[in-house]
Amino acid sequence: MSEIRYEEADENLTEVFLNVLEKNFPFYQNFKFKLLFDLKKRVSQGKLVLASIELPGPKLKFFSRDKIAAEGYDFIIIVDRKAWELSGEQARTKIIRHELRHVEISEDGSVKLVGHEIEDFYAEIEANKDDPEWRRKLVVLVSDVYEQEKIMLKEAKAKAKEKTDE
Ligand SMILES: [Zn+2]
Repeated sequence: MSEIRYEEADENLTEVFLNVLEKNFPFYQNFKFKLLFDLKKRVSQGKLVLASIELPGPKLKFFSRDKIAAEGYDFIIIVDRKAWELSGEQARTKIIRHELRHVEISEDGSVKLVGHEIEDFYAEIEANKDDPEWRRKLVVLVSDVYEQEKIMLKEAKAKAKEKTDE
């Protein structure tokens, strides 16, 4: 069984990303970002991962070449599709803005990723003053939905088994 784990960004993800890029990180516009949805839940250090940003290695960069990025992509942003679906426009903006804070471009144009200053970035704390708990709340919501799905799947499987046992 081979299920495809990732999905290309839809129009909304692309739009939110471009808006954030234009508004908060205009100097990143020369770089190529590949946007993907992850259909599978990811957990890191016991916490649900809403989204992540990665630097493709040379091989992956080579394989990622396409019409948009003739030399391959500089960054890959992977967003939990369920988290995206369960988020409003504001939270979506926050998710993308947070990921882009990880980007650091040095004067010679080379790129790298930086870790969090704290559990977040100071600039994000300031920008999220209206709802400082947004991430924790969204993580709880998304985790609950994943949990629900797991239970439903188990029940469906049990039912299917009952049928075959008959
Ligand atoms: Zn982060």
